[in-house]
Amino acid sequence: MENKTCAKCGSNHLMPGLEIISHLYKPTVMTGSNWIGMATASSELTATVCGECGYTEIYATEPQTLYKEWRRENA
Ligand SMILES: [Zn+2]
Repeated sequence: MENKTCAKCGSNHLMPGLEIISHLYKPTVMTGSNWIGMATASSELTATVCGECGYTEIYATEPQTLYKEWRRENA
């Protein structure tokens, strides 16, 4: 892990690597009479919490997976 400082207060008291499991569920999709079903994308999230001001950065560990699913829905 690289040495980082808080984006808000500049403190280096950061606690990286807190993990959150997140699932992104898409609503069911119908095109014409074809049942496509429920598309699901999931990605683990990692959070870095500032021990000084509490500012929290959250990153998806599999952003490409989420983006692919998002594009399919929002293209
Ligand atoms: Zn901070």
